[in-house]
Amino acid sequence: MRPTLIPLIWALLLSLLASPSLQADSSTLPLDTDWQYRWGDSPFDGAGTPLWTRQEAPAEWHPIAFPSNPPGREGRHHAWFRIPLPDGDWRDPVLYIYSVDLIVQAYLGSELIYQYGHFDERGEGRFEGWPWHMIELPEAFAGQRLHFRVFSDYTDIGLWGEVKLMERPDLILYILGQSAQALVVSGFSLLIALLAFILAVLQANRRSFAGIGLFSLASGMMILAESQASQLLLEAPMLWDTLAAGAYFMLPVAMALLLEHWFARPRLMRRLWQGHLLYAVVALGLSLAGVLDLSSTYPPFDALLLVSLTIMFGAIVIQWGALVSEQKVIIAAYALFGLLLVADMAVAHGLLPWQRVPVSLGALAFSLALVAISVADYARTQREIRRLNRDLQQEVAARTRELEAMVERLREFSYQDPLTGLKNRRHFDEILTHEAAAARRHGTPLALVMVDIDHFKRFNDHHGHEAGDAVLAAVGELLREHFRDADVVCRLGGEEFVVIMPGATAARAEARIRGLLHGIRECRFRHRSIELDGITLSCGIAAWPEHAEDPLALTRLADEALYRAKHRGRDRSETYAVS
Ligand code: GH3
Ligand code: MG
Ligand code: MG
Repeated sequence: MRPTLIPLIWALLLSLLASPSLQADSSTLPLDTDWQYRWGDSPFDGAGTPLWTRQEAPAEWHPIAFPSNPPGREGRHHAWFRIPLPDGDWRDPVLYIYSVDLIVQAYLGSELIYQYGHFDERGEGRFEGWPWHMIELPEAFAGQRLHFRVFSDYTDIGLWGEVKLMERPDLILYILGQSAQALVVSGFSLLIALLAFILAVLQANRRSFAGIGLFSLASGMMILAESQASQLLLEAPMLWDTLAAGAYFMLPVAMALLLEHWFARPRLMRRLWQGHLLYAVVALGLSLAGVLDLSSTYPPFDALLLVSLTIMFGAIVIQWGALVSEQKVIIAAYALFGLLLVADMAVAHGLLPWQRVPVSLGALAFSLALVAISVADYARTQREIRRLNRDLQQEVAARTRELEAMVERLREFSYQDPLTGLKNRRHFDEILTHEAAAARRHGTPLALVMVDIDHFKRFNDHHGHEAGDAVLAAVGELLREHFRDADVVCRLGGEEFVVIMPGATAARAEARIRGLLHGIRECRFRHRSIELDGITLSCGIAAWPEHAEDPLALTRLADEALYRAKHRGRDRSETYAVS
C-alpha cells in the first residue's frame, strides 16, 4: 500500500507549484480607500428605505481604513459602512467580500441589492455562517455610493478579510486559485486518514494509528470546509461552518490522544482530550439545537486551545528524551500546525493584520511527516524481513539435519530387537532378499541356519519369564560372538533365531554350528546369581545352490531341517536332505 503514496506526493507538489498560475489578479480592484462608518442602525421611511442612504450627513460618518471593527463599539450590535464606487469599464461586475460578521444588507444608492441573513423588525438576526460573498452590481455603478448595514452580536463586527471589485469569471478563478492548495492538501489528509484507520483496524494494538487517523481526518475536513471552493461544491454555509468547527474542535482531541498513547504518565493528556471532546460535543450540540450561535463557540474554544497547546508542548519538552525519532518528527509537524493555528487565531481576533494564514501547510507537513515515517518504516521492515528470512533458513537447515538424524535412529530401532540387540524379522526379510540376489549375481554359495532353543516353554515355566529373557539375551550375545562379521544373526521371534551366512556352503555352516552347540552345552547361564543349566539348541541348515534352485527357498528348507532335529531328540543340528 505504502509505495503508491509516492506518485501522489509528486502530484501534490506539482499542483502546489502550479496553483499560483490560477490566481488571475489582472482585472481586480481592491476597495481599500474612502470607507466610512457610523454606529447604530438607520431609521426607515414608510416605503422601507433606510434614511441614512438618502442623507449626506458628513458629520455623522467617520473615516476608517477597512470596514471592520470601528473604534468605540461599547456593546453595540449595529454598524453601517459606506464607500463611493470608483469609475471603471466593467463587464458583469461583482463585489467580492471574504466574509462578514455576522449578517449584512448592501444598498446601492437607496436600493437594497444584496442581503445575507435575516433581519427582524428590530434589525437583529442570528449567525448564518461565514461564506464569502458575491454581490452583483449593475454595469453603470460608477459614482454611486454603496452602503452596508451590519448586525453582529459576535466579538467582531463588519466586513472581513478582503473586499474587491471583479468580473464574475475572474472571481470564480480567483476562488479556485486560492483554494487549490487547500483542496489538494485536504484530499491528501483524508486519504491518509483512511489508510490510518484501515491500519488501526488491521493492527489491533496500534492505537497510534487511530490518533493519526483522527488528526488527519479532522485537519482534512477542516481545510476542506474552510476552503472557499467548498461553497462552489455546495452552497450551504452553515453546513460547512459546522463541519469546519467540529473538525477544528477535534484537532486537540486527536493530538492529546496520540500523546496520551506515547507518554509514560498519560493522565494529563487524557484529561485534555476528554475536556476538548466534551467541549466539541456540547458546543456543536447547543449550536445545532439553536441554543447558541456557532460563532459564539469559537472564542472560548480558542482560549482553551491556547491553554491546551501550551500544556501539550510543555509536556513534550519534559518528555522529549523518551520519544523516538518518528514521534519527534510528528511532534515537529504538530508544532508547525499549532503555530499556524495560533497565527490564524490571532488574525481572526484582529491581533494580526488580515492575511490568509496557510493553515493547510501545517496539515501538509503533518501528512508528509507521516509519509516519510511510513517509507522509512517500510524500508526498515523490509530489511528486518530479509534478516529474519536468513535466520529462518539457517534454523530450518539445522532442524532438518537433526530431523534426518532422528529419522535414521528411528529406522535403526525399527530393525532392531530390543531384548537381544540383534536385528529383527523385518531386517531379516530385507537382508535375505539382498543376499540372495548377490549370491545369484556373483555365483557364490549362501547358507541359512535356523536356531531354536529346546523346551523353552518348560524352562520359562520352571525358572520364570524373567530368567527366560536373560537366557534369550545371553544366547543372542553368544550367537553374535560365534559367527563372523559377514554373517547376519537375527531374532525371528520368540526363542527362534536365524543366521544368514553369505559365501558359506552347507559343510561350512555345519562346522560352525557344531562349535555353537558345543559352546552352548558348556555355557553356564546365570540369573540373579542362580545357575541355569540345561539350555540346548536345535538347528536346521540349508544352503544354496546345494539344496534349492532359489536362494529365497532356504528359509522353508532350514525350517524343515530344524523340525527334523527336534524330532530326532533336540540338541543337534540337521542339514536339509534333498529327497
Ligand atoms: P521346543 O523344544 O519344541 O521348541 O519346545 P519349546 O517349549 O521351546 O517351544 P514352544 O514353541 O512350545 O514354546 C516357545 C516358548 O518360548 C513359549 C514362550 O514361553 C517362550 N518364549 C517365547 N518368546 C519369549 C520371550 O520373549 N521371553 C521369554 N522369557 N520366553 C519366550
Ligand atoms: Mg523351542
Ligand atoms: Mg520355537
